[in-house]
Amino acid sequence: MAGLVALALCVGMVAGCGQGGSSEDGNSERIYLVARNIDDGAPKYFEAQEQCPVCDANELQAQHYADVDGKRIYFHDAECEEAFKENRSRYLEKLDKRKQEASGEEK
Ligand SMILES: [Zn+2]
Repeated sequence: MAGLVALALCVGMVAGCGQGGSSEDGNSERIYLVARNIDDGAPKYFEAQEQCPVCDANELQAQHYADVDGKRIYFHDAECEEAFKENRSRYLEKLDKRKQEASGEEK
């Protein structure tokens, strides 16, 4: 019985200790917020792209992309990548609009 209490205490201490530490795992699946921050050497279709053109999520991942005219557009997951490829002109139009808005804001 005493052994069990000791074990519970021990586990509690370990858990408490773990809370303070930073959990920086999952580096391979990093989420990028702006296309220009993605360092894959590819030219970007829209440097300031910060949203998935399909579902508007503010998450872009380097491994989900489509190349248009040799330039790269990013998505937040594989589903959106597929959706874009199936309905390319529609999402491109949307992205182009956003691109124009962005360049209008910057001076
Ligand atoms: Zn998406």
